[in-house]
Amino acid sequence: MEKNEILIGRQVDKGDFIVEEKYKSVGRLHAKITLKANGVYIEDLDSLHGTYINGSRVRSKKINRSDVVSLGGPDYYLLNINEVLRKLPLSDEEFSLKVSELKDIYNDYQSESNRLQSKMQEDMMTKRMLPTILLGAVTTLATIFVGHDSETKTIIAIGGAILSILMFVLATKWASKSSREMKEKLNRLNEKFELDYVCPACGAPYRGKSWEFVRRSGKCPACKREFHL
Ligand SMILES: [Zn+2]
Repeated sequence: MEKNEILIGRQVDKGDFIVEEKYKSVGRLHAKITLKANGVYIEDLDSLHGTYINGSRVRSKKINRSDVVSLGGPDYYLLNINEVLRKLPLSDEEFSLKVSELKDIYNDYQSESNRLQSKMQEDMMTKRMLPTILLGAVTTLATIFVGHDSETKTIIAIGGAILSILMFVLATKWASKSSREMKEKLNRLNEKFELDYVCPACGAPYRGKSWEFVRRSGKCPACKREFHL
């Protein structure tokens, strides 16, 4: 019978998935991945610190492509399922199927990354400019409608100037905080993409190559294995 299970832990056999010794919260024999006709399953093998999917502890569960799987804690050792599955011998059909799945991975990444980047620019514009513009308008109106004698006008002008500076500093801080968060999101997206968008057989990264390019090559540029789509 063909092997369809992989054990995961710090002390499993070479043919299984070995976790580096430094990850102490991962058990010697921690979990098991099973490839079934309808998908990939993970089972925790009574580990001390548990197996987590998207932050929730699980005993046994089917894994979806977008799931974050972690061993030894909700955010401790992030398991790259593709890397685990490469321990299984891949038939030609499975290989071709997995290559075809890269299309969605590539397209999803492109649209999400574009969305984040344009949102980032938009955010920068509104958060940086809007408060300052509003304040300028209010000050101008105040000068026109409230201040009639020159003393009041001077006070409004000075007050407006001080407030503008303050507002500018605050707006800049606000904008840079939100752009930091966006950059982190973008980084996480890039990291996940680089892990997922790889040759299903040899694990070579396809980053920088479009899905169309990969499809037209007809084979993995690294290991030369052919696929039929
Ligand atoms: Zn390859």
